[in-house]
Amino acid sequence: SIPLGFFGGIGAASRSGILIKGSNYLEALNDVKVVVFDKTGTLTKGQFKVTGIYPSGGKSKDELLRTAAYAESHSNHPIAESIRTAYGEQISKEAISNYNEISGHGIEVTIEGKTVFAGNARLMEREGIAYEVPEQSGTVVHIAVDHQYEGYLVIADEVKEDSLQAIQRLKKLGIRKTVMLTGDASAVAEDVGKQLGVDEVHAELLPQHKVEAIEKLDRDKSPREKIIFVGDGINDTPVLARADVGIAMGGLGSDAAIEAADIVIMTDEPSKIAVAIGIAKRTRAIVW
Ligand code: ADP
Ligand code: MG
Repeated sequence: SIPLGFFGGIGAASRSGILIKGSNYLEALNDVKVVVFDKTGTLTKGQFKVTGIYPSGGKSKDELLRTAAYAESHSNHPIAESIRTAYGEQISKEAISNYNEISGHGIEVTIEGKTVFAGNARLMEREGIAYEVPEQSGTVVHIAVDHQYEGYLVIADEVKEDSLQAIQRLKKLGIRKTVMLTGDASAVAEDVGKQLGVDEVHAELLPQHKVEAIEKLDRDKSPREKIIFVGDGINDTPVLARADVGIAMGGLGSDAAIEAADIVIMTDEPSKIAVAIGIAKRTRAIVW
């Protein structure tokens, strides 16, 4: 039977906007020593804004932005939303066919009969398309039409106000290591990691690399110590399942992430992880 104290702990957590799916997860929080975060939407707001448009090969800014918005018309990635917002005009969906979202890379799509690629440097390299190296820091979306490079857009996200506090509180609770994993570019990831004081940053990861990163962290620690992974995206589901305690940010999170998680934070505040660990410690003090 489950000791009564656990129900008290789960109830206290739920009143703080933290949904714990079983007393075993509340108990496991006591032994967490490593906390691994996804970047976009977890430590950052996940609300991107287009901050620069750099056409190439004689195209205008308007033309480049239009191509990008058409390419991103079917995507629900926060990058895509920011591009559609910057474009601001109606998109004729009948111009678009063969839409294909390539995980960790971007989009391949046919627009008005032309093959368009919109995505990161890795996508351009995969397609053998020579691209420009950006002047401005930020997340970059390169555009190519029929394998001709047409330029790039720079997109910026902001760190959540709550994230710095989240990292600091975890350290005070005796968390040995904080880690950030992201598919985004190294320069962007390093910048966010420095702002927040995250111990380890791993960037330019494909979804399966995130699972491998958790497995490596698992091997490098003592068996008693537990690992949390905190994420919000559809791509994060395998990582949520692999961690000892998978936590989904429910505010922005995808249904798949909420389903796969052991704990759901109903707000967008990563500091709630420290709140949950605090509740776990008080619950253990009562139960044992
Ligand atoms: P994160 O780990 O930050 O959640 P994702 O795995 O969602 O990142 O995406 C990794 C990278 O793949 C993005 O930073 C971007 O460069 C590229 N990418 C993914 N989806 C898109 C898209 N719809 N349009 C352009 N680029 C994309
Ligand atoms: Mg993500």
